[in-house]
Order: sequence, then structure tokens, then C-alpha cells
Amino acid sequence: MDFALSEEHRQWRASVHAFCAAELQPHAAEFDARAELNADAVRKMAPLGLLGMLVPERYGGAELDMLGTALAVEELGWACGGTALSVAAHNGLGCGPLVLFGNETQKQRWLPGLASGETGLGALALTEPGAGSDLNSVQTRAERTGDEWVIRGSKAWITNVAESAIVTTLCRTRPEAGSHSFSLIVVPVASPGLHVGPPEKKMGVRASPTYAITYDDVHVPADHVLGEPGQGLPQTLKVLDGGRISIGALSVGLARAAHEESIRYASERRSFGAPLAEHQAIQWMIADAATQIEAARLLVHKAAWLRDRGQNYTQAAAMAKLLATEMAESVCRNAIQILGSYGYSSEYPVERLYRDARLMTIGEGTSEVQRMVIARRVLSAEH
Ligand SMILES: Cc1cc2nc3c(=O)[nH]c(=O)nc-3n(C[C@H](O)[C@H](O)[C@H](O)COP(=O)(O)OP(=O)(O)OC[C@H]3O[C@@H](n4cnc5c(N)ncnc54)[C@H](O)[C@@H]3O)c2cc1C
Repeated sequence: MDFALSEEHRQWRASVHAFCAAELQPHAAEFDARAELNADAVRKMAPLGLLGMLVPERYGGAELDMLGTALAVEELGWACGGTALSVAAHNGLGCGPLVLFGNETQKQRWLPGLASGETGLGALALTEPGAGSDLNSVQTRAERTGDEWVIRGSKAWITNVAESAIVTTLCRTRPEAGSHSFSLIVVPVASPGLHVGPPEKKMGVRASPTYAITYDDVHVPADHVLGEPGQGLPQTLKVLDGGRISIGALSVGLARAAHEESIRYASERRSFGAPLAEHQAIQWMIADAATQIEAARLLVHKAAWLRDRGQNYTQAAAMAKLLATEMAESVCRNAIQILGSYGYSSEYPVERLYRDARLMTIGEGTSEVQRMVIARRVLSAEH
């Protein structure tokens, strides 16, 4: 849908690209090796609007549409997968629940700090040591006592939480009410009883910090619940629909970076008296990558376009995430093949891109979960 972008979208993409090329991409290998967030670059993102992409202007955000957000996240992914994941999680998972379900007081209280970066990056805690894909198994309990919730439990694999002032937490608030048992509660990270573990040691997206959390009788005011108590699960699924568009866009960016590196290398490196790019086997990998990147981007943009028009986009978002993340893994794999032994070296970017791409088929709903979402809809439409 590149051909259908407005001039405004093109200019926005160009300015985000210029920022990413100057501030992020040159440092991606260093922050991957150090397994640290590029906090300097993240700070510089606020004036551009990258920390409040979907936040309304009246709360200090850029109030972009989802297509504009996807364009920016693709550029971030092209430049640095780890930073892109943290910034995408901040916008979609950190700000998203407040934008979608917060009341006026909650929005005024928390969104300006998130959009300006003053209160750090936002975080959403769903996953637990014993519950990932199956969120109905979430055990973290929030009990109402007077004007407070008291939270007990633990979460695992939470992006940004030590960089954040608040973590929106999926809690079981009504044990007896089935899928209406859950609520999203905004928890200040500095609350007594909330403990954040050391950063996880990961294969990829190492510049994006991930932590376990324990909640040991954490007291939170009653008015920190988002929307109606009991609506936490449908709220979460709605947040994840948007997040999946972002992860799809991020994956397109990772694949694009690997593809560009393959083209550059295949044009310079010679074998059997000719540049690699003149051998048909290499040309086919490059042609497949170009085609698959374009196809994945179209699906990502279609899902964003549907959301921007208020249409149902659950299936489109699942398709976009499934195709784009599996495509990115395959394109990065082939980029390593094209670079041969140099592709396997950390001196070249494609091994990092491959490690970063590997996460994308897992986070914010695995490929198997996306297929479940798609199959459920496809089958119910036909029967
Ligand atoms: C770097 C990173 C960052 C993350 N950030 C966050 C975050 O910010 N917030 C957060 O809440 N979570 C976060 N997560 C957690 C992530 O969302 C989960 O890992 C993911 O949802 C999968 O859950 P799981 O790891 O428990 O796998 P499981 O649910 O245990 O699944 C294991 C495997 O079984 C498959 N499987 C499970 N059920 C079925 C089924 N019914 N049919 C077929 N296959 C099935 C899965 O697809 C997967 O392949 C992060 C994870 C990572 C690695």
C-alpha cells in the first residue's frame, strides 16, 4: 500500500527514518552486545512524537493513526530491533490500555508523563511463569479491601518494567466469574512489595530489557482499575490486536535491514569469477525476500487501515503478525546464507537481525496463537 500513502505519511516516515539512521542504527550492535536499552536515543524520541504515537494531543501525544504508527515502527525495526521492541511495547502495551480504557482522570494523570518520556517507558504485565498463551490461567490475585486492591502473585517476561513508573497488570479480581474474572490495574512500580528481578539473559532483542516481577501484598488505590472490573480479558485482547500490527511492522523493518545487507554484500563479493549477485541461486533468495517483504508490509498496512476506519481488524492483525514474523525469520536466515561465514559473524548485522527476528513469532501471541485466531474466524465464516 506504499503507493496509497498520503504525503503526510511519507514525510512522517522520512523524518523517522532520518532520526533512526542517525541515532539508532549506528549503535544497534553496541547496545545488543551490552544488553542495554539505548536510553539516550529513547529520550530524543519524545520531541518527535515517537513516545506517544497513539496518545491524543490533549494529553501530550502525537495522535497518529495506526498506519502512521506502523510506518514509524518499521523504521525503528530497520534500525535496532531491541529498541524498536521497547518503544513498540511502550506505545502499544504501556500507553495503549490507558488510551483505550482509561477514564479522564486516569488519562490526565498518566498519559502526559508517558508521552513525554518523563515517567519512563510504559509496561504491561500479562504473562506469568505458568501462563503465557493461555491467559485464562493467570493466577495473580487482586483482592478489594476497602478503598484498595491488594495484589499478590508473579509475572514473567515483562518488557520495560524497570524503566517504567507504572505497570498495567492483568489480575484475577473475581475468581468465580470465568472469563469475567480479570481486571487491568495500573500499579506504580515503586509500590512497596513490588519487586523487579534482574534483566533476563536473552538470545535476541537484547537492547530491550525484560524482567520478572513479584507482587507481595502490593496495595493500590481502588481507582487504578481500568474500565469496569471484570473486563480485563477482552480489554487485553483488544490491546494485543493493536500490538500485533506493531510487531508485524517491526518484523518488516528487520527483514528490510537484512535484505539491504544481502544486496550490498552480494554485489561486492565475488565467487567463480563473478559477483554473488550474478549467481541465480542468490538472485532467487533476493527476489523471494523482496516479494515477501512487500507482501507482509501490505498485510500490516491493511490491518492498520481497517483499524483506522473503525472496522474489525482482529483477523487482519493476526494474519499480518503471522506472515510478517515468519517472513522476517526466513529472510534473515537467508541473509546469513548469502553472507556465508561473514553472515555468521557478529561483525556483520545479519546474525543480530536473525536473533532479533526469532522473538517476533513468540511475543504478543505466538504463531500458533495467531493461527488459532485466524482459523476460528475462517471456519466460523464458512459453517
Ligand atoms: C523478549 C520477550 C518480551 C516479552 N514481553 C512481554 C511483556 O511485555 N508483557 C507480557 O505480558 N509478556 C511478555 N512476553 C511474554 C510473551 O508474550 C509470551 O512468551 C508468549 O505469549 C508465549 O507464552 P509462553 O512463553 O508462556 O509460551 P506457552 O504459552 O507455554 O507456549 C509454548 C508453546 O506451545 C504453543 N502452544 C500453547 N498453547 C497451544 C495450543 N492451544 N495449540 C497449539 N500450540 C500451543 C505455543 O505457541 C508455544 O509454541 C515477552 C516474552 C519475551 C521472550
